[in-house]
Amino acid sequence: MSLHAGHLQSGWCPACKAYTYVSCALLLLTEQGVATIGELGWCEICDDPDDPLPPRRIDRAGS
Ligand SMILES: [Zn+2]
Repeated sequence: MSLHAGHLQSGWCPACKAYTYVSCALLLLTEQGVATIGELGWCEICDDPDDPLPPRRIDRAGS
């Protein structure tokens, strides 16, 4: 029995709406076959405490 990580998939982060979300399936290989036991997911922006989102800038044109 061994644990493997599936291929990484990129996607849109549901929190910050940036295309920085990466998910990865956790696969458990057993004698019976392969079972998906879960999925890891993280966002490069939301889950990186060293690089927080910059404050949202609102540019007002013409003012
Ligand atoms: Zn995010």
